[in-house]
Amino acid sequence: MRKKIVAGNWKMNMDYNEGLTLFSEMIDLVKSEITGAQQAVVCSPFIHLHSLAQAATASDKVSIGAQNAHQAEVGAYTGEISAKMIKSVGAEYVILGHSERRQYFGETNELLAKKTDTVLKNSLIPIFCIGETLQEREANTHFDVIKAQLVEGVFHLEADAFAKLVIAYEPVWAIGTGVTASAEQAQEIHEFIRKEIATKYSQAVADEITILYGGSCNPKNAPELFAKADIDGGLIGGASLKARDFVDILKVFN
Ligand code: 13P
Repeated sequence: MRKKIVAGNWKMNMDYNEGLTLFSEMIDLVKSEITGAQQAVVCSPFIHLHSLAQAATASDKVSIGAQNAHQAEVGAYTGEISAKMIKSVGAEYVILGHSERRQYFGETNELLAKKTDTVLKNSLIPIFCIGETLQEREANTHFDVIKAQLVEGVFHLEADAFAKLVIAYEPVWAIGTGVTASAEQAQEIHEFIRKEIATKYSQAVADEITILYGGSCNPKNAPELFAKADIDGGLIGGASLKARDFVDILKVFN
């Protein structure tokens, strides 16, 4: 059985105290309402990581993640945060290659391959994001774009390292727009991703890897999306900023 994960990406929201309040509401709801084996991952801004990781010890169903890490191990990179630092405060996951990082910070597949190596080397789990823009979908190049993101970003890994990843499919046109991919559209891409993984590695590796859907996912549309054979959970933006909504999405796997 593949691990079911609902990850929240807070993006650049929540000051320190707001984040702590949100997290404490969320963890109370998780403790009283989550009965299955699903995992919640809260990917907060760096400033919250240490406090949230401490608070998360109250529930084995909640883990903490960062939203980015620098590709270098250590050094003179003013303003950056290393994977080792993230690990040292008790976080377990790192989102890599989010479309906002690709779009606004020029992150390329080549750079993301390096970041993936550094994050894995520091025993953190990358949540590796891929997905096409609206123009790419309209031009019917979305399968090529997604394949290139996999090949250039993560297919350099050996099978045992690759098996540690979580993949997130986030069509850029569905992020923060209120337009969700239909469950069929999402399933089509998830199936494609899993087939590419099976071809590159093995059916066993493909069968075990968790693939999340992200893009305007909410408590209403999550049940239909998560019912699809190759969708193992979600990467949630806006709805992860409300404890009730986030836990309702998590509850789909109860
Ligand atoms: P929304 O859920 O706000 O569309 O954001 C999705 C996302 O980017 C998660 O990483």
